[in-house]
Amino acid sequence: MNHNRRREILQEALKYAGTTKVFVSEPGALQALPGALEKLYPGRPIIPVADDNTWEAAGRATTELLTAQGCTLADPFIFPGTPMVEADYGHTVTLEQFFRRSPKGIPLAVGSGTINDLVKLAAHRSGRPYGVVATASSVDGYASDGAALLTDGSKVTHPCPAPEVIIGDGRLLSTAPAELTAAGFADLAAKIPAGADWIIADYLGEDPINPVSWKLVQEHLRTWLADPRDTEALFIGLTLCGIAMQYQKASRPVSGAEHLLSHVWEMHHHTYQGRTILHGIKVGIGTLISTACYEALLNKGPGGGEDLEELEGMFLRKKQLLEEQFPGISGLPQLKETLREKHSDQQRRLDRRAMITEGWEEIAPKLRQQLYGYAELKELLIQAGCPVTAEKIGMDKPRAVSTLRTAQLIRNRYTILDLLDDLGLMERWITSLTADDSVLT
Ligand SMILES: [Zn+2]
Repeated sequence: MNHNRRREILQEALKYAGTTKVFVSEPGALQALPGALEKLYPGRPIIPVADDNTWEAAGRATTELLTAQGCTLADPFIFPGTPMVEADYGHTVTLEQFFRRSPKGIPLAVGSGTINDLVKLAAHRSGRPYGVVATASSVDGYASDGAALLTDGSKVTHPCPAPEVIIGDGRLLSTAPAELTAAGFADLAAKIPAGADWIIADYLGEDPINPVSWKLVQEHLRTWLADPRDTEALFIGLTLCGIAMQYQKASRPVSGAEHLLSHVWEMHHHTYQGRTILHGIKVGIGTLISTACYEALLNKGPGGGEDLEELEGMFLRKKQLLEEQFPGISGLPQLKETLREKHSDQQRRLDRRAMITEGWEEIAPKLRQQLYGYAELKELLIQAGCPVTAEKIGMDKPRAVSTLRTAQLIRNRYTILDLLDDLGLMERWITSLTADDSVLT
């Protein structure tokens, strides 16, 4: 797909963005930044925020360009580069105080997912818009409303507006650390099973598909994923996902079971060799697990599951599991409330089971059309440099697969996890996928 066609897609997508006004993604896109900032915020000082690494990669050059073009610069805020700054709510408090020292200042995030999310929330808290110069095609959250931050031990998405200006300069993106680009690729590949989750939720009347958000994310998805080295295509695909979230005011269009698996590992503060693992890398393993569940379901069909447990007993059993999995986190009452909501209507569970079983011939082809096969997905992830085994993220396979059980509890969003639960197949799938030599190996 040539640059002109890409530009058309971006301009078309911007019509649906609630907040983002400028979205440029092409080689040399940085040159558009001074004009965009001056047009939107004439005369207001720009506050760059980076970490040591992104400052070296892009921050310094960006501020030099802005100065040369007559923009006013306030002092930058630069996080240390090592250890990598965490997506931790506490940092937004520090940033907010920093921004308030320059009442008219416009924050400009220069970095990837974490820096962007921290600036997003802090800009909102200090009552001003912001822009971002992306340094890596690493996450879909650049353009989304909301910042996903670890808060009181839980991953919480704090509502706050997306950036008004998004610059994805192909020259800059192509020099990003390979691990970040790999993470972005996996976060984008996740939209494949996430789409399948939405197809099921739509079919069951749990969550109707919104045609606009669906189109933004899914229409060219396989094109954006076709070449893992095409960082610009990746960035466009990821940013369209963010715009879909702006439009839908929810993350449903871009996030399904694979993200819930990753959220559990984040809530467990999972690290490997002393480092937190990039969001997209964890999501990539989640995407493989979710795809393996779908493949098993498509091969074996939805029948033969255990009888449904009586509601109250099941709720209590799952509540206990939550307490064991997340001891002492302050977000636990909220998790229990979500669990209660999910387990309040036994008839609905029975109805869903019947609908899927009876409608299987109708829904299975739609799922097949949406999904990559497990082997195909694995190959794509390998080409993109993503880990495809649990060991590579410092986790043993039984633990990775059994996260299916926990991930089903934490969010009221219908996914393959709930489907397996409704069909009475969860435990059987955990056992068989753990034993399956082709999964996560
Ligand atoms: Zn994601």
